[in-house]
Amino acid sequence: MLVQSYKLEINMSPHSSEEFEYEAIAYVDADLSQALPYLNAVLPRGIYLPDVPALSWRYRNHNIGFWPNRIAVDHLESREEAEELVEKLVALVNKVWERRPEIQPDFTTHRPPQPLEVYKLLPGLNCGKCGENSCFNFALKLAAGQSSPENCPHLSEKGMEEKKGQLEKLLGNRWPEGWF
Ligand code: SF4
Repeated sequence: MLVQSYKLEINMSPHSSEEFEYEAIAYVDADLSQALPYLNAVLPRGIYLPDVPALSWRYRNHNIGFWPNRIAVDHLESREEAEELVEKLVALVNKVWERRPEIQPDFTTHRPPQPLEVYKLLPGLNCGKCGENSCFNFALKLAAGQSSPENCPHLSEKGMEEKKGQLEKLLGNRWPEGWF
């Protein structure tokens, strides 16, 4: 097992004048540098920066960063969610490391999704329910990792399943298939 233990730091940060959210950093007892290219091969749309080294990944509405000595997660609603997600991420790192003989490491830096590609998969109603005044502005936010598909209620309507699935795949904010 690569990561035997970690020290979890959870901080509260203001989300708005009335709301708070949490950020978590798990300081691990192992060097994750060697594991990053394997994680890059497994995580959809992870962005690997070999010179840092670091790997960032967007999962649901969370920005996740893997560094040699830590894993950081933001936009958490509670301490419980922080503990649960960090535990899941550490388990993923260990599983990927354990199965590395069957994984082709990926040393490339993946291209982030382009706003126009994202826009083509949105409903195109320009209704503003996502908080943006047009679908294209929402596409800009999604492509920049500043929002998530859940904020467009029309994507959850009947008949939108395929587009929503394509969108999640394009944005990469799905848990990798086959990794519990
Ligand atoms: S809620 Fe959906 S359909 Fe409405 S503007 Fe936002 S992205 Fe477009």
